[in-house]
Amino acid sequence: MKTIISAFLILICLFATASADPPSKPIRILVITGGHGYKTAEFNNMLSSLGPEISYQVAELPAAYDMFLPENRDRYDVLVFYHMWQKITDDQANSITDCISKGKPVVALHHSICAFDDWPEYWNIIGGKYFHKATTFKGRTYEPCSYIHDLNFTVKISDTKHPVTRGMTDFPVFDETYKGYYVEEGVTPLLTTDEPSSTPVIGWTKNYGKAKVVVLQSGHDVPTFENPDFRKLLKQSISWVYKK
Ligand SMILES: [Zn+2]
Repeated sequence: MKTIISAFLILICLFATASADPPSKPIRILVITGGHGYKTAEFNNMLSSLGPEISYQVAELPAAYDMFLPENRDRYDVLVFYHMWQKITDDQANSITDCISKGKPVVALHHSICAFDDWPEYWNIIGGKYFHKATTFKGRTYEPCSYIHDLNFTVKISDTKHPVTRGMTDFPVFDETYKGYYVEEGVTPLLTTDEPSSTPVIGWTKNYGKAKVVVLQSGHDVPTFENPDFRKLLKQSISWVYKK
């Protein structure tokens, strides 16, 4: 009898082990900052709110350039751009281009659309660019872009079937708008707005080399960091770009 009970207990243990979900590793995001201030604690609260499936570290430019070197690329899974850095050398630019084109995915937020005024390949990487001065790019001349802070407007979901926006409906934000920025032809638009002080497309995806890229124009300050819809969008963006 004792043997039967022991065997039974062993079976229960085996069953319990087999049915438990294997612990999955979190997606390690590397947030690139620098060149623009932001409310760090509140921004980090947003990152923590993404749950145990996502872990984060923050690296500030220019020191963060080292993170794009081949020997450091295994230290993270997804790049999140929240910088507005401008100064870059050819070697630094080549290192970023190489890192992303070989497959390191990117989620680019808000003022990272305004970074690297003198490095057009960055505009190709994220498929967008806020111009601080009149700029001719791909045969078209863009006037300097404009921005307005503290506006209430609606973010419209233009593709509810895409994994980044799945399960989401139009939602209100209190944020800054940008108007007149370049959006690459051929990107997949996910978010739009009717707000007249904004360029209509405010969220998109694209590929750059082997990497998936998501760009979200929103994200200036605390009201957006604390917006549950924006948090969901950010989490689904990170999960989607990471999936092979
Ligand atoms: Zn801003």
